[in-house]
Amino acid sequence: MEKKVILDGNAVAASVKESLKERINLLAQEGITPCLATILVGDDPSSETYVRMKGNACEKLGIISKRIHLPKETTTEELLETITELNEDEKVHGILLQHPVPEQIDERKAFETIAIEKDVDGVTSLGYGQTAFGFGVYPSCTPAAILEIMDFYNIDASGKHAVVVGRSPILGKPVSALLLNRNATVTTCHSYTSNLEQFVKQADIVVAAVGKPNFIQGEWIKEGAVVLDAGYNKGNIGDADYESCAEKASAITPVPGGVGPVTISMLLKHTVISAESYMSKKSATL
Ligand code: NAP
Repeated sequence: MEKKVILDGNAVAASVKESLKERINLLAQEGITPCLATILVGDDPSSETYVRMKGNACEKLGIISKRIHLPKETTTEELLETITELNEDEKVHGILLQHPVPEQIDERKAFETIAIEKDVDGVTSLGYGQTAFGFGVYPSCTPAAILEIMDFYNIDASGKHAVVVGRSPILGKPVSALLLNRNATVTTCHSYTSNLEQFVKQADIVVAAVGKPNFIQGEWIKEGAVVLDAGYNKGNIGDADYESCAEKASAITPVPGGVGPVTISMLLKHTVISAESYMSKKSATL
């Protein structure tokens, strides 16, 4: 039997960040420093932690982290105003609105206000549509991370049956589209899927994006399948039951240390790409 591969997200993230350093240096020669603006509304402790982690990851690499913290009473109109200002700010290359936002805010309207060229977190419906059509520049970061891991480990999706469990707009749906674009035959499962286990049993590639700890069971996994676990639940637990799935899989992402660290590096990568395209546009108009 072939050796099992533990898909090491920290190694993938380190390699992505290393490759970005050179690109950030080239931008610096043109007087451009990539800048990611993060917007946090309210004071949810987990959201604060996520925003801090993203900001710190930027700064470590030489990307400016512009952190905007709005009070929890912020209205939709006030948030849209902030987003519009950031859209117009030439020094800002990416905008991330940390979600969930407080319930009085129309979250979808806020996402849709982010300019497509700054939608580095892949939250706009236009960005999603472009991703599904196959020419999206910034797919949502977790789906992008899953593909980055596959590329790093030379896992080819073409002709494979990929089963994605979950269909959220930021994860299940875009990752299904990305795998389809890579010529996988994709089945997307959700909470109304009957006989879920039967679908997973047929999969060459399983993407767990369900938001339930240890949900995907090892006995559902076909011998030799690849298991990519995007899940992140309280207590550092994935959506796939790691021990039992690892027994069957030929390759598997651990939690933590799998998809999570690569997701943040995709945000950094997208911000750098956005700064590069700003640079090209600027030199084209000179
Ligand atoms: P979500 O919005 O709650 O979506 C969960 C999906 O799972 C929904 O489509 C839901 O189906 C489906 N589902 C729920 N129960 C099911 C069941 N019993 N059988 C089949 N499908 C079921 O969650 P999400 O935002 O996509 O996140 C999914 C997971 O990824 C979570 O563990 C989250 O923490 C993690 N995550 C990780 C990162 C990262 O950076 N690593 C980023 C984002 C999310 P319906 O559509 O029918 O309701």
